[in-house]
Amino acid sequence: MTVTVIIAEAVDEALLPFPASPDAHLTDPLTRATLRVQSHMLTATRAFLTARGFQELLPPIIGPVTDPGIRGSKQVDVDFYGHKYKMMTSAILYKQASLLAFDKIFYIAPNVRLEPLETAVTHRHLAEFHQIDVEIRDARREDAMALAEQLVSHVVGEVLATMPAELDLLGRDADALREVLVGAFGRVGHQQATAELIGLGHPQDPAAEIDWQAEEIVSARADRPFFITDYPKGSRGFYDKENAEQPGVLRNFDLIAPEGYGELASGSEREHDYATLVTRMRETGENPAKYGWYLDLARRGIPASSGFGIGLERFTRYVTGRQAAWQASAYPKLPGVVSA
Ligand code: AMP
Ligand code: MG
Repeated sequence: MTVTVIIAEAVDEALLPFPASPDAHLTDPLTRATLRVQSHMLTATRAFLTARGFQELLPPIIGPVTDPGIRGSKQVDVDFYGHKYKMMTSAILYKQASLLAFDKIFYIAPNVRLEPLETAVTHRHLAEFHQIDVEIRDARREDAMALAEQLVSHVVGEVLATMPAELDLLGRDADALREVLVGAFGRVGHQQATAELIGLGHPQDPAAEIDWQAEEIVSARADRPFFITDYPKGSRGFYDKENAEQPGVLRNFDLIAPEGYGELASGSEREHDYATLVTRMRETGENPAKYGWYLDLARRGIPASSGFGIGLERFTRYVTGRQAAWQASAYPKLPGVVSA
């Protein structure tokens, strides 16, 4: 109760009144316009991916293990007939496994992460959100980045072309959004991004993930989406492949939205070699014994792959120009706030 009150005050201070009731939120014309745009974004995503040979699968909701690479947030336990299962924080392990059946797959996947309380005011963190989750067999990181870029451009192009009335109602600056369509997205290495952040007075740790304040800083300075690549080992999950030519550097990327909206997606080339996975698990503090089904599969052979996950509520927030990601959810769950 106390926690909820503290957070509710913090949210008020951030000038973002969280709706007092579900009906206030659901009947708000801005919510309805945002959700109409989101629905269209999903239709455009499915059309884009299925036209390119991707198979949509329904994602798992629970499992014996889930993605541990979730900086600072907690997993949710489920009592599965006396076994401790987890709600999916991300379905990455299942995405890799799915490639045994299909060469290209995607999910629209729900994720639950108990994010730290202080993230309730970042405008970007929800405790329950969805990912457009894509995985491509035998693909390199660059293939995944090219696909993410094309997918985001396609979806934004579709909304701009078909939903001007909604964008107008939402007060979205369509010209700013149109910047997405102008050409290839920029790329900057993690090292360079870190140096720039330190130059700007932000104490970014060169060995760590770009923190969420830093993400907002680099995002606010951009007017087009761009990639940050090559995060250091230790900053990400065991499944991000290490660069054989550059030990300590991972073959991964984030896609950052401009205008201060922050991170839209994370992706990587995946580790799939059994022995390396076990070593990487140990290095990241994970107990391999927990990952029974996954490691058994890896021992028998998981395909090489690359992929990414785009946060749907964050992507919707960016496209619709809303203040916060929770406004792009019909039933928002904000960290620490007890609601519908
Ligand atoms: P991650 O694997 O943590 O990079 O998550 C993949 C994507 O999901 C991110 O790039 C975000 O767009 C989105 N995402 C991650 N955590 C959250 C959250 N707590 N609330 C909303 N979206 C999130
Ligand atoms: Mg990420």
